[in-house]
Amino acid sequence: DRAALGQFRGRPTRTADGKAVQLYGNIGSVADAQAVAEATGEGVGLFRTEFLFMDRSALPTEAEQFEAYKAAAQLFPAGEVIIRTLDVGGDKDIPYLGLTKEENPFLGFRAVRYCLDRRELFLTQLRALLRASAFGPVKIMLPLVTRLTELRQARALLEVAKGDLDREGIAYNKDIPLGIMVETPAAVLMADALAREAGFFSIGTNDLTQYTMVADRGNPQVAAIGSPFDPAVLRAVRQVIAAGHAGGIPVGMCGEAAADPRLIPVLLSFGLDEFSVGGSSILAARREIARWGKVDADWVAAGAMELETEEEVRAALEESIRP
Ligand code: PEP
Ligand code: MG
Repeated sequence: DRAALGQFRGRPTRTADGKAVQLYGNIGSVADAQAVAEATGEGVGLFRTEFLFMDRSALPTEAEQFEAYKAAAQLFPAGEVIIRTLDVGGDKDIPYLGLTKEENPFLGFRAVRYCLDRRELFLTQLRALLRASAFGPVKIMLPLVTRLTELRQARALLEVAKGDLDREGIAYNKDIPLGIMVETPAAVLMADALAREAGFFSIGTNDLTQYTMVADRGNPQVAAIGSPFDPAVLRAVRQVIAAGHAGGIPVGMCGEAAADPRLIPVLLSFGLDEFSVGGSSILAARREIARWGKVDADWVAAGAMELETEEEVRAALEESIRP
């Protein structure tokens, strides 16, 4: 029988044999951050900053962004607050940004590609993030990285922003980590190289599944193909975690798969360091993590990874979580 959820409130997140893992929340606003704190999440694994840019007619100022990032950071003094730079384009349109209509928006000018092109917009966000890092444990995360060059270019701009703040005498964390989302097949294939230069990885299974399976995440006609249970996706996830650890960096997951009780033993077996889930899933995820020790999780994962179809993997994992 599953233990009652309430008893997991405020408890450390540990596997059945006592290994600590980080359990964070996904947020789009400071109100969401408060909900994660109330649910006793230990930090933020994904702050989708595009929500600060939506439902308005002009860019948020540096001061507005700073206040939001600072407020989120101050809620988790002992944790981490991973803030993703603007992830626009694809399905996320913001009219005043002047994105042109594209035939294949999911393969187009979006996310880090857009930000590297809009230098002033990006520098403003980086300055706000750096300033917030003086008030709490902020980490910066780049969305939709496909090439090592993008990480290097972003790091160069981060250095520009730091130089500006130095000249202005404004405080920030000089060692602020700069990490990436791994959510494209190119990033999976280059994960060994990326791990040498990124401060951390966070696997975005929503996009990674879409791009690996070539199945639009918003199209119900191909939803069954775009499944995180597909062995192709699970092999990608396993490879990214191994590459991150070989490079000495922590690996988290902030896609929806991180909250799926059927996948939690597999992710634990792969060695995932950090799970980031919706605020309302935190206690349930903590309970699922607490059910699994290494021997059992390894057994389930090894069995699943021998299978070669989505249907078989999903059936096996469903069987494994029966109470
Ligand atoms: C993802 O792609 O898995 C992810 C967490 O980012 P988003 O859902 O915002 O694209
Ligand atoms: Mg994504």
